[in-house]
Amino acid sequence: MPYDPIHVNGRSYARPQAPTIVVCIDGCEQEYINQAVQAGVAPFLAQLSARGSVLAADCVMPSFTNPNNLSIVTGVPPSVHGICGNYFYDAEAGQEVLMNDPRYLRAPSILASAAEAGCSVAVVTAKDKLRALLGHGLRGICFSAEKADDANEKDNGIGDVLARIGRPLPSVYSADLSEFVFAAGAMLLETARPDLMYLSTTDYVQHKFAPGTAGANAFYAMMDRYLLRMDQAGAVIGITADHGMNAKTDSAGRPNILFLQDALDEVLGARKTRVLLPITDPYVVHHGALGSYATVYVASRDHLATAIQFLSRQDHVERVLTRAEAAAEFELPPDRIGDIVVTAKRLSVLGTSASRHDLAGLDVPLRSHGGASEQRVPLLFNRRLTSVPARRLRNFDVFDLALNRTGAPGGAGA
Ligand code: ZN
Ligand code: ZN
Repeated sequence: MPYDPIHVNGRSYARPQAPTIVVCIDGCEQEYINQAVQAGVAPFLAQLSARGSVLAADCVMPSFTNPNNLSIVTGVPPSVHGICGNYFYDAEAGQEVLMNDPRYLRAPSILASAAEAGCSVAVVTAKDKLRALLGHGLRGICFSAEKADDANEKDNGIGDVLARIGRPLPSVYSADLSEFVFAAGAMLLETARPDLMYLSTTDYVQHKFAPGTAGANAFYAMMDRYLLRMDQAGAVIGITADHGMNAKTDSAGRPNILFLQDALDEVLGARKTRVLLPITDPYVVHHGALGSYATVYVASRDHLATAIQFLSRQDHVERVLTRAEAAAEFELPPDRIGDIVVTAKRLSVLGTSASRHDLAGLDVPLRSHGGASEQRVPLLFNRRLTSVPARRLRNFDVFDLALNRTGAPGGAGA
């Protein structure tokens, strides 16, 4: 019995043979790693192509944090687990509903199932908004860097976190918030040594700094030091990202924004449509709630055709899909998206109304995500893989590859 694989959401996972750590680097466009390696500040990441495995994968749409973190820990797309953004419009209640509550989750996580099967499991997230979703049903350690001072045995499986790590509580808008996640992971590996660990950072740095800049390289150098430390402690490490990140500006650094609600109101009249940006969350200072994905609820069928035609002609728009098309192509739950799904081109973002976005907090040119242009993410391992599936790789394959297909260290995998 103790050697049986763990079955969850139609997939099977071997039990960890060594402490196994999956790291989700928020907003990690592949170029950040490439540039840090070229600059010589990331020696651990630099040697992965020689002694580990360097692959790329596609994240799920929308390329936002919650849908992807939930896909990674469940091993399935949003059509199965149900979390397709930070918000959806509850038509019955007639209001926009925050999807941060675990009651919106439709699938158990690999983490909770592994704990159920007798493995010791730990989860550390940067922001607290993800903690409840990622830790749902989990018997083990689960806390956020943001609320690390509140962590206690009863609710989080561990107390005295600040003292154990030896760091002060980080600010929610800082590189420190993510460093705290890594420091916590290293501390847990060296003390409790959980069988399975999930570490998830925040993209504060990536929203601010382009690949190869001093701010970005310093952040990747920091992560590299912790990854090396965890590698030297004998962990199997799988690294991926929830999504990439792109500049969303013109050549003068001005944001390329299409305000969808303003545009639709002008064409169809007020209150005929409701534009919802699932990126919107309580922490918007670094991106002004602007991303490259939006969903539109339309009052009547005649307006639907007009809205689709109009949106398809807009300069910043890449794709306009009906609910059924978006559900099929992007693997989304149809009951939690609008009548239309709109994605923006690589250098553009979608807003609601100009008056509803506070851009005062943007002290650097806008960088964001949400579209198909931020779907390509790294998929890295500190072990050779014994085999790689001959199909489109996804970031939510990371637990499968780490648990089912890693060979010995520096090993003789195929
Ligand atoms: Zn993210
Ligand atoms: Zn972001």
